[in-house]
Amino acid sequence: MIDLNEFSSFFVANWKLNGDFKFINDFLSKIEIKSKNKNCVIICPPSVYLNYFLKKNKLYHIGAQDVSMYEKGSYTGEISPKNLKDVGAEFCIVGHSERRQYFNETDEKIKIKISNLINNKIVPILCIGETQMERELNLTNKILKNQIINGLPKNSNHTNTILAYEPIWAIGSGSTPSVDEIESIHTFIRSIEDKFKNFIILYGGSLNIQNYKSILNINNVNGGLIGGSSLKIDDFNKIMSI
Ligand code: PEP
Repeated sequence: MIDLNEFSSFFVANWKLNGDFKFINDFLSKIEIKSKNKNCVIICPPSVYLNYFLKKNKLYHIGAQDVSMYEKGSYTGEISPKNLKDVGAEFCIVGHSERRQYFNETDEKIKIKISNLINNKIVPILCIGETQMERELNLTNKILKNQIINGLPKNSNHTNTILAYEPIWAIGSGSTPSVDEIESIHTFIRSIEDKFKNFIILYGGSLNIQNYKSILNINNVNGGLIGGSSLKIDDFNKIMSI
């Protein structure tokens, strides 16, 4: 498994269901990753392209956007952690709000996926976040705590798992929490249990060229999970070279 200690910040490009060979070739011809800084850049394209990315360049890392909860067998259409490992994935997003919302992803399934990924030496990136309604009802901390406690298996720890705080209302909306809110929510996450103190915690949700400096400079934010802006190579280059 990759040693997370080697890096000072993490930048995850979540392409969702976007990109084709033409787009990828253009993106790769323009991407600029400086080897001297200790930023870990993780590109998560649709899984069928993972191996293509692996063969093109070594300065970024590649990750999947989801994984099957099954390891093998009669599960048509599924992709196992072993399959992901075979094509070079070192990271895998798990529990993204879009999967929770549209594909019936539960904390139980997430827990199994994370455990299997760790057993296959792939770093899970667990997404957690509250809805607008939950935020208005002051339930944010409770929701995040439940998602973490119920979603993380026993074999997960700060050396093999990353957390991404992604308020659902901020994803793709252009709105974000304030710097103070992000700071206090990340502080809360670290305080849930002693073992979370040293977790890598990313922020995700409308991170863009206008707000990346103020958000990524927050003390206890260890990087970003970036959707829309990761598809704009000029913006992404700026954000991940901070
Ligand atoms: C996401 O989908 O995880 C995300 C952060 O998207 P965006 O940056 O577009 O809000």
